[in-house]
Amino acid sequence: QQVQDLNTDLEQQVQDRTAQLEQKMLELERLNTLKDDFLSTVSHELRTPMSNIKMCIHMLNQFPLEDRQKRYLGILEQECQRETELINDLLDLQRLEAGANPAAMEPIDITQWLPKVLEPFKSRTRERQQILRVDCAPELSGFQSDRVGLERILAELLNNACKYTPQDHEICLKIDCLDMETATIRFQVTNEAEIPPAELPRVFDKFYRVPNADPWKQGGTGLGLALVKRLVEQLEGTIAVDSQSGLTTFTVELPCQPVMKAS
Ligand code: ADP
Repeated sequence: QQVQDLNTDLEQQVQDRTAQLEQKMLELERLNTLKDDFLSTVSHELRTPMSNIKMCIHMLNQFPLEDRQKRYLGILEQECQRETELINDLLDLQRLEAGANPAAMEPIDITQWLPKVLEPFKSRTRERQQILRVDCAPELSGFQSDRVGLERILAELLNNACKYTPQDHEICLKIDCLDMETATIRFQVTNEAEIPPAELPRVFDKFYRVPNADPWKQGGTGLGLALVKRLVEQLEGTIAVDSQSGLTTFTVELPCQPVMKAS
């Protein structure tokens, strides 16, 4: 009888704990939704005044201005740009987390597509006297992917590589077919800059920035890699970062159904 009582008591305790946990989960979900709604409202509300400020800066720039006035307007313009990027990144991240833009797979012909992706970075690296190297597996002729999502992933990674690599140093984009069986393509962006080992686990966190890592003093939002991670996950891929001996490599592996050139 005693054992039975103990059993009933235990069962009751387990039921109570489960109910409490379910209650907590519901509460957390509610708070998460509230946070998302809040971020979304704030971001939308900030977008309009930001466009108005930009327009006013543009109009003020039409007047004859002293150098000092021009300099102040330049600072205003830069700050506006930074805020706009932050708002757009926040909205994009929120849309991704809400699953609002499902991936749309399409065939991609690598010889047509790759030069377009690289175009903005060719001029940017040239301006900064950085060296941009591209190493794409010659046997690969194309693959299937969500073009918009993949372009954003590569743009964010290449953008960071440009941003954190000093003048005269190298950036490399490598594309190869990892595994025909799982139809995986690997995209690797390597650049000459190192992230301290202690910071590595946090670089994909929202708003996280490694202190004093920006040789061009451009600033950033700390949202780029969080966005990239969500985009990669949406495409059912993986992303990893490795940083040692003065080199940082971001490796993205995506199921892409590669198409090889006929030999
Ligand atoms: P942001 O670039 O806006 O700061 P990210 O989320 O894109 O935000 O990156 C987080 C941090 O990781 C950056 O602040 C930077 O210190 C570091 N980082 C990202 N990419 C690189 C890279 N390619 N080389 C060196 N450091 C990087």
